[in-house]
Amino acid sequence: MKPIDRHQAPSVQAPESPARRWVLLDRDGVINQENPGSYILEPDQWIPIPGSVEAIARLRAAGIGVVILTNQSAIGRGLLDLPTLESIHLRLKRTLEKAGGEIAGIFFCPHHPDEGCECRKPNVGLIRQAEAALGCSLHGAPLVGDQLSDLQAARRAGCRPILVRTGRGNSVALKENGLEEIATYENLSEAVSAILEDTTAHPKP
Ligand SMILES: [Mg+2]
Ligand SMILES: [Zn+2]
Repeated sequence: MKPIDRHQAPSVQAPESPARRWVLLDRDGVINQENPGSYILEPDQWIPIPGSVEAIARLRAAGIGVVILTNQSAIGRGLLDLPTLESIHLRLKRTLEKAGGEIAGIFFCPHHPDEGCECRKPNVGLIRQAEAALGCSLHGAPLVGDQLSDLQAARRAGCRPILVRTGRGNSVALKENGLEEIATYENLSEAVSAILEDTTAHPKP
């Protein structure tokens, strides 16, 4: 599978297997640690959460494709440039590949929150970009996140929201937002175990 990103033509993922299962992951606070009080601005600051790299490898071993959807407003705020973001993602991909994991694509929103773009979660633009690039619907696909905006984007796009308690996940108030029935796990490793046990959720026939 050839990696893709949002700046490449969406011709990549030939639908060799239209019924392929996909899992969507937020990046910061789900795969890697947050940088407290700041953003991930350099490759050295990208530090995986224990168990997350292995969890992504388990998805691959099960034949499930993994896509990352990440808000990177540090770009719009002038704190981070695209080449540096690419080098951060190179570190991410190399770390995963060493463990037997693989990422089909990383879709990011580079905008400042004030820009009112369509791609910043909780909007669904990143999910739609992924669907266009993959050539398939992501309806029903699990989307694992640590913030309310991840869960809301999943809801709006028809994906299956899953909350992890890593990153900012402990401060998400599900009940106050009408989301009390959302599946919640301690970390990505536990969430992936649950996804792998559920053989019926996605895709739907
Ligand atoms: Mg996050
Ligand atoms: Zn955006």
